[in-house]
Amino acid sequence: MLRPGACIGILGGGQLGRMLAVAAAGYGLKCCIYCPDAGSPAFDVAAGFIQAPWDDETALARFCERVDVVTYEFENIPAETAAFIAARRPLLPGLKALETSQDRLAEKTFVASLGVGTAPFAAVSSAAELEAALAQIGRPAILKTRRFGYDGKGQTRIDAGDSAGAAFDVIGRQPAILEGFVPFAKEVSVVCARGADGGFVAFDVCENVHRNHILDVTTVPASIAPRTAAKAVEAARRIAQALDYVGVLTVEMFVLADGETLLVNETAPRVHNSGHWTIEGARTSQFQQHVRAICGWPLGDAGRYGRATMTNLIGDDIDAWREILAEPGACLHLYGKAEARKGRKMGHVTRIFPENGL
Ligand code: AMP
Repeated sequence: MLRPGACIGILGGGQLGRMLAVAAAGYGLKCCIYCPDAGSPAFDVAAGFIQAPWDDETALARFCERVDVVTYEFENIPAETAAFIAARRPLLPGLKALETSQDRLAEKTFVASLGVGTAPFAAVSSAAELEAALAQIGRPAILKTRRFGYDGKGQTRIDAGDSAGAAFDVIGRQPAILEGFVPFAKEVSVVCARGADGGFVAFDVCENVHRNHILDVTTVPASIAPRTAAKAVEAARRIAQALDYVGVLTVEMFVLADGETLLVNETAPRVHNSGHWTIEGARTSQFQQHVRAICGWPLGDAGRYGRATMTNLIGDDIDAWREILAEPGACLHLYGKAEARKGRKMGHVTRIFPENGL
């Protein structure tokens, strides 16, 4: 168990690292951020940072010297970097969780092996294999690169009449996974935490609406039946347990039109955009929860203070910051990014609507 005053190393310097570092500071902990990108949002709020490439072993060794435990705020950490660090300091969540989430095929195979539903899927490594997979899975289908996809990048939909060869070209002829298109009614996520002692705590299920493949609005609780919500949490618990997971884990799922069937789309071995509402909306935020878990501390209460909505500020949405500040009860978060490029997450706003007389 780490003590206040210990130092957490965070791989990645985006807004998730920034909010983790702020939460850690609230518990009297220090953070050191490791990120190759100049001007990373997390650098501004941490006790220290190292700006160096992922393969710079001298810098990585220096980073390990400074920290007591290492975590990450995004899952595309190169495998060699993760192994280098794990040999020197505890890396939490562990390598199994990281490796599983880095490869969509490994991830879906793992989830399905636990008896948790997924879209039908098949491995694809050539245009010929894609033809065979399409014959098996049918159309429409979605072709995704196995690695390095996010926010809809590295994927393309294949409809009736579309050429398989052209679709394989679109994703750069990389190792891929073909998934049956899921005619989902809703997208939800379970943000949960598993402690070093195996304890498990989940926030209420989040309902997520995407715009241009990027999360737009999260509403909590999701408007799904309590039984479906319980099933979603149980699926996440099973995944966390099978990964021997320590930290906050996010599991994104589709809910079908029957309101009952859940299919896991993706797991993220980290805090997640759909959990940002917890900063003001829950008794423990997802960032505090992650810090607690990786420090070997007891997990916090995930109870809600009310109904919550979280709206992302993407690109020039951020221009509305003055109006949002003027709105009573609107909680504005800005990530300190210099340039409001199109599609870039610049901040978010959370609104909490107290329920049950709270
Ligand atoms: P992903 O990159 O896997 O998180 O996918 C991004 C978004 O694409 C999801 O949030 C869904 O809206 C959509 N999507 C991904 N996979 C499927 C699928 N098999 N069927 C239908 N929609 C999907």
